[in-house]
Amino acid sequence: MAVQKEPRRPVDYGSSEAANGLSVFSEQFDSQFAYNGDDLGCHYEHAQTRFVLWAPTAEEAFVMLYEDDQDTEGRALPMLKEERGIWRAAADADLEGWSYTYRVRIGQQWNEAVDPYARAVRINGTRGAILNLEKTNPPGWEHDARPSIEHTLDAVIYEVHIRDLTIQPESGAHHRGTFIAAAQTGTWGPDGIATGLDHIASLGVTHVQLLPIFDYSEDSVDETNVGASYNWGYDPRNYNAPEGSYSTNPYDPAVRIRELKQLIQALHAKGLRVIMDVVYNHLYDAYRCHFSQLVPGYYFRYSDIESRTLADGSGCGNETASERAMMRKFIVESVAFWAEEYHLDGFRFDLMGLHDIATMNAVRSRLDCIDTQIIMTGEGWIMGSTLPDDQRANQHYATALRRIAQFNDSLRDAVKGSIFNPQSKGFISGQDGMEQAVKSGVAGEIAYSGDIRGYAAEPDQCLNFVECHDNHTLWDKLSLSNPQEDEATRIRMHLLATAIVLTSQGIPFLHAGQEFLRTKQGVGNSYQSPDEINQMDWIRCARYQAVADEIRGLIALRRHHSAFRMRSADAIRRHLAFEEAAPGTIAFTLRDHANGDPSRHLYVLYNPARKRVRVPLPKLGQWKTLWGLSSSVQETENGSWLDAQELSCIILHIV
Ligand code: CA
Repeated sequence: MAVQKEPRRPVDYGSSEAANGLSVFSEQFDSQFAYNGDDLGCHYEHAQTRFVLWAPTAEEAFVMLYEDDQDTEGRALPMLKEERGIWRAAADADLEGWSYTYRVRIGQQWNEAVDPYARAVRINGTRGAILNLEKTNPPGWEHDARPSIEHTLDAVIYEVHIRDLTIQPESGAHHRGTFIAAAQTGTWGPDGIATGLDHIASLGVTHVQLLPIFDYSEDSVDETNVGASYNWGYDPRNYNAPEGSYSTNPYDPAVRIRELKQLIQALHAKGLRVIMDVVYNHLYDAYRCHFSQLVPGYYFRYSDIESRTLADGSGCGNETASERAMMRKFIVESVAFWAEEYHLDGFRFDLMGLHDIATMNAVRSRLDCIDTQIIMTGEGWIMGSTLPDDQRANQHYATALRRIAQFNDSLRDAVKGSIFNPQSKGFISGQDGMEQAVKSGVAGEIAYSGDIRGYAAEPDQCLNFVECHDNHTLWDKLSLSNPQEDEATRIRMHLLATAIVLTSQGIPFLHAGQEFLRTKQGVGNSYQSPDEINQMDWIRCARYQAVADEIRGLIALRRHHSAFRMRSADAIRRHLAFEEAAPGTIAFTLRDHANGDPSRHLYVLYNPARKRVRVPLPKLGQWKTLWGLSSSVQETENGSWLDAQELSCIILHIV
């Protein structure tokens, strides 16, 4: 979301003499300079702090040490160059509480930058902070453990923005808009409803996905003036440190770390796993960012190297080069750092289609060494990129990305209509001909049959959703596509859409507030809209508790019935059968205790018609209603029939 800035001065990409005669743009650069060590960054100990920097094109390098924020001069500690472009220095003093940067000479230019590996930063992320990470652990952190989960396919994900969750006064939280407000329990709002974390836990979801929590640019939110602006945070500045505006004191580098850990601890205590939204595909500014100051030209893709024109597949001004060894290494180690230091349970890769397949699989392997049930998801959109087509981690190559779930935009658009055309309708809102695309989502986008097949080889590669932080909320979309409908009708459509997500194979994903018909007042891209647009509206939540209760019921049903969570494509082909149904409706059975389901058979009908329909039921025994009370099963001499209410999802079972 960052606006691309002009370089403040011409960039010096360095002399090839500094790097064994190799240009930073040459193909051989990695074979000569890629570094395998795991010691990049700053290592604090009481008696000594060591610094390790990778900067092969630098001709001189210093660590700049600053005693406090008022210290503008700093002290220069010379670094020594070793093999493979590694620079080292050690300071024999106790530097706890100091901050640091690196100062390097590239060609004729001196650049100063934050260490990309910095694990703590000062206000607005302009310097790395030297501290003892162990001291940032909140009380009881050593007992914090990932809530157990049998399989990532058991996940029900709930996506929320830290500030949105509690910023409204009606949230009843203290320190509203911060990590610790999101960690607070026992908060209540209008009509005595639970708010914040207690509300999320009451839904029965398993994973909370947080919009960006790493340090993002002060161009979006100035940490010295929090509240003056709002942002989702998709403009990374320092990948390995938390964002300061969510802390109660952004001036103290330890506070944001400790308070984020407190939040994760509180979520874990409620049995909720935590997914971090990571944005390694671009940085806030390709010229000012640390990567470009330290090794200009290396970390980004160029659409034309001669003219130094940056590739821009992200639409944010730049695109990182994950296929280059040290960018890949950075991503893998950064994700592992967050998983280990912060006990995170999952990662959602923004614009994953810009990354290369080898990098994503390397992340998967690294995370498997920590916990195989750490979930990985990503936006595998098909996007322009300078990367060769068959190396892109997108939907076309989903089968090469084992156990990485991709956002299913095909189901999303089939259910509610295209996100690009607000007026377009989908399966739930009156558009004919969407059945096959919806069925494909129901089957988890696996190769189910000749005409029902999507991008996935296995169901854990499919993430189903109808609403997320991007684009209009489902409620706003329905208001635009079906303005003539009354509220009761639109609520039925809304519930049917969510029911489809929660009864499909693959991993279901809900957007915060979807359970109370969240509206952003018609704003489709609210990334920098004020709190009034983005906040979780607890007044609305209280008003639509009946809707939230329906969602709670559907989540509970999914978690009770393992047939909705089949583990393999083979199992889905064996146990899922699409049934004869009225035109425009979709019916299917999940048969024979699929995935160990307590019920022998399940039957699901989606009726998007504006009238009751009567459909024959498969002759498997005596069907009983599990969901959809105002519908009924009738027995006749010709077999059983379901009389289904308009605009509804009905679920039956045979014990
Ligand atoms: Ca920041």
